[in-house]
Order: sequence, then structure tokens, then C-alpha cells
Amino acid sequence: MAALNLLGVCIPEEYGGAGFDYVSLGLVCEELEAVDTFLRVAMSVHTGLNSLTLYTWGTEAQKQKYLTPQAKGEKLATYGLTEPGAGSDVVGSRSTARREGDEYVLNGEKMWISLADTADNFLFFCWTDEEKRKNRDHSGMSCFIVERTMKGFTSGTIHGKLGIRAGNTGYFSLQDVRVPKENLVGEEGEGFKIAMFALEQGRFTVAAGATGVIRASRDASVAYANSRETFGTKIANHQLVKQKIANMEADYQMSRLLWLQAGWLKNEGKVSGRATSLAKWQATVRSETAASMAIEVHGANGYSNDYPVERYLRNCKAAVIYEGTRDIHTLMQADWALGLKKEKPARKSLPPWQSSEARGAVAL
Ligand SMILES: Cc1cc2nc3c(=O)[nH]c(=O)nc-3n(C[C@H](O)[C@H](O)[C@H](O)COP(=O)(O)OP(=O)(O)OC[C@H]3O[C@@H](n4cnc5c(N)ncnc54)[C@H](O)[C@@H]3O)c2cc1C
Repeated sequence: MAALNLLGVCIPEEYGGAGFDYVSLGLVCEELEAVDTFLRVAMSVHTGLNSLTLYTWGTEAQKQKYLTPQAKGEKLATYGLTEPGAGSDVVGSRSTARREGDEYVLNGEKMWISLADTADNFLFFCWTDEEKRKNRDHSGMSCFIVERTMKGFTSGTIHGKLGIRAGNTGYFSLQDVRVPKENLVGEEGEGFKIAMFALEQGRFTVAAGATGVIRASRDASVAYANSRETFGTKIANHQLVKQKIANMEADYQMSRLLWLQAGWLKNEGKVSGRATSLAKWQATVRSETAASMAIEVHGANGYSNDYPVERYLRNCKAAVIYEGTRDIHTLMQADWALGLKKEKPARKSLPPWQSSEARGAVAL
């Protein structure tokens, strides 16, 4: 992936990336997850959650030191928000940072982190204001860049997962890890907003990837239906098999349009949180249905790992949970529709896409 510059596909060339647009990021994710989820997960945490956050919120020095080697694929990066006691409830997290001179001292445990045991660089979200933590005021949270090599960093792998077995998922712990104040991302107190910004970019990659699972489920089902015979005819000729395949086709096309819409909004520099949430919610839920139906089209063979469809079902389930569960997106969509929630731009927003030629023309 690094050799193909996929890990920096939508990062500008001046920061080591390939300089493509955000729709291209989605296309890479859809294609990768049509093969296997772990490949898309690497894109989600490395490019979506981490690199796009540094590109948008990072200082020029952070972009040179961290973003550029990440975009080139020389360093692998991930995103540490979830803790043993806090997932959806980000404000319930316990990790802390305290300022000592020109350094911050970080402490905390992060759990269920993709690439935790393999990544080089981490975004670490924690409280810098204890009073605000007690009052559940998210303006007391901050974001830091942490390196695996820093003293006090340890990590491990979670075993026994339902799916994504080709990819690492784990935990990491920081015990009095000292980072220079230059590793603060954004300003003190902006950690929650940065976490939500990052999640929006991650959700985009998850939506496109889940669309790939639907496509793979459809393609496997079509191939099987055209070869398996029952009652003297191909099972493709049975109406109820056709119905499953028709639903997969509809779910694929609708999910694709939803992530393309979100990608277009990002390219244009328009707010895209609502569209991205809708795309992530619908694509992941529909991928679960498609993978499950693909198993049924395959009959007993679908229940065995001689065919890929049981893997699609095991892999797609996590995407219904991470980066906002099905329930969280359902509530957010209802609140947007009801006018109870508004899309408010933060201090920083994802830069609109411009070709390198256009950026050069602007510079002139
Ligand atoms: C394979 C995998 C990879 C992951 N990778 C990362 C990663 O790289 N970085 C990272 O930070 N995290 C990662 N996560 C963690 C993931 O983001 C969290 O699991 C997710 O946010 C849900 O949090 P939770 O597991 O604590 O569930 P909880 O928040 O405890 O939720 C439990 C249940 O309660 C429901 N619920 C909770 N609150 C509400 C509410 N207000 N209204 C209605 N229902 C509610 C949820 O929908 C869910 O069904 C990963 C998880 C998995 C499975």
C-alpha cells in the first residue's frame, strides 16, 4: 500500500502524499474492503483518522515531522480515543495530561485501538482540565501526538476477535509519558472537537469500505447463483434468490451514492458531517444484511470458509459498532432531521481539494 502511495492518497504532494481528492480516498477504501476489511481499516485509522487530522489541525512543524513520513507510508499511525470504560461516551474517558514546563506528562489506557500493537504514531485524547472532567465539560479535553518509542508507552494485542483477524486490534497504555508541548494538536481544550473531526473523516472511509463489502457479497452471490443447480435449474432462476441479489444491488448503489455525496462535499470544502454519518450508518448496516444474505444464497457452503462470504459477515460487524454505533448514528440523524442538532463548522475544517496545478496557480 505504501509503495502505491495509497496511505497518502489524498494528502498533498508537498507532504509526501499522492495529491488525489477525497473521492479517490473513498474509491481506495471501497476497492480494498471488497478484498478484505483489514486493508481498509489501515486506511481508516492511518489516513482518515490520523493523517487528515494532522493535515487540518497540525502545525507546519507537525506536518513536516509526522504527516510527511505517514503520507509516504514510512510510518504507520492510528487514533486512540476509546478506553476500557468509555467508547460512545467520549466525555466519560479518564486519560489525563498535565503541563510541566515545556512538556506534558500523559497517563491513560486506550482499548480497542486498531493497529495499537503495530503503529508508530498515535493521536491520544485526554483531559487537561480536571475540574472540567468532573463537570463533563468537553472543553477540558486535548489531543497529543505520541510515539511508540517514547518512555512509558506499552501496547498489546486483543485476541479472540469475531473478524478482522488479518489486522491488529489492541490496547496501549501511557505511564508518565513525557511529550514536548509541540506535540499538542490544536489548542488546549480543543481535543473533543478534533476527535469529532477525525471521526468524520474515519466514517467516510468506513462508509466507502462497507460499500465494497456489499459489492463483494453481490458478486459472490451472482457467481454462485449462476453455477449451483437445484430442482433442475440454476438457483439464479428462483425468484427468492433473485430478490436477495436485487436487494444487494440496490444496497450497493445507494450506499455508493451516499459516500460519493459525502466525498463531493469534502472536495468542495462544504460541511459534510451529516452526509458522512448517513453514509456510514446506511452502508455498514446494509453490508451486514448483504453479507448475511450472501451466506444464504450459498446454502451450507456459505457457512464454511471454503467460500469468502462467512468472512464478509464476520468482518463487517465491527463497522456497525466503531466510529459511532448504529444507535448513535440513528440518534444523530433523527436530531438533524428534527432540527435539534446543527452542523457547526469548528475552528478548522478539512481543506477543500485542489489539484497541485491549481494550488500552484493560487500560489502564483
Ligand atoms: C474492531 C474494532 C476496532 C476499533 N478501533 C478503534 C480505534 O482505532 N480507535 C478508537 O478510539 N476506538 C476503536 N474502536 C472502539 C469503537 O470506536 C467503540 O467500540 C465504539 O465507539 C463503541 O463504544 P463501546 O464499545 O464502549 O460501546 P458502548 O459505548 O459502551 O455502547 C454499548 C451499547 O450501548 C449503546 N449506546 C451507548 N450510548 C447510547 C446512547 N446514548 N443512546 C443509545 N444507545 C447507546 C451502543 O449503541 C451500544 O449498542 C474499535 C472497535 C472495534 C470493535
